[in-house]
Amino acid sequence: MKKISILLLLFVSLLGVFLICARSFSLLNQDNALLLPAVPPNLNAQISPSEVFVSPAVPILMYHHIQDYPYGKDLSSVSIFVSPANFEAQLNWLALNNFQTVNLSYFQNPTRISGKPIVLTFDDGYQDAYDQVFPMLRKYGFAATFYPIVNNIDKSGFLTKKEILEMQASGMTFGSHSLSHPNLTEISESQAQQEIYASKIILQQITGKEVLDFCYPGGKLNQNAINIVANSGYRTAVTTSNKINLGKTDSFQLNRLDIQNDTRFENLPALDNL
Ligand SMILES: [Zn+2]
Repeated sequence: MKKISILLLLFVSLLGVFLICARSFSLLNQDNALLLPAVPPNLNAQISPSEVFVSPAVPILMYHHIQDYPYGKDLSSVSIFVSPANFEAQLNWLALNNFQTVNLSYFQNPTRISGKPIVLTFDDGYQDAYDQVFPMLRKYGFAATFYPIVNNIDKSGFLTKKEILEMQASGMTFGSHSLSHPNLTEISESQAQQEIYASKIILQQITGKEVLDFCYPGGKLNQNAINIVANSGYRTAVTTSNKINLGKTDSFQLNRLDIQNDTRFENLPALDNL
């Protein structure tokens, strides 16, 4: 009788342990299933200092489309279309003038390189990033950072997940340009959190890598947007202020040189004087 009681007690204990384990496991699964936490994990944390000292000057170039301007399109957006011929001339000029591409982690860890550092960035994740930019960069042995609008990935005219993975495997970096490209200064705080933080999580699921770089849509930012970017775990964020990065620079407000349709690098003092 005593033996049966002990066996029964043992059985009940094991059942208890099993139920606790099963419950923890299912809770864990439920947590993992919450793909889009609405609030960045460190929202109320102190923001770590983001000021970095940049010396020598590091230019970040901002591109959008690399393609001939579509015939018949109204001319309002002509400036953001750099022709493939001009783009190749620009890469050729960079190579001849001893520039070497780095990614934005250079601002935290300026590694010693043989050439002059430069960052190439491409906004919005257009299809021509794969069709035109990617082959040309490979031809010159350059790398770049691409900022897709995350909700547009796999849509017509924009990069696909497959293309992003192929480009990443060849040394290209991907940062977030938000979910839907809103003006971050004109939306609610919770919407801004979604745009900045959820886009990071989704892009990480696509790339399988931590996403550390953010690009403010339309170059619009305020202190609230900067705080959310910092607390979401990004390390850098780029603006559209048309300047070079030199001296004391905020890594959440990095300047970029606006490369337009008719930009010739030999006529661009910011590059030519480096
Ligand atoms: Zn954009």
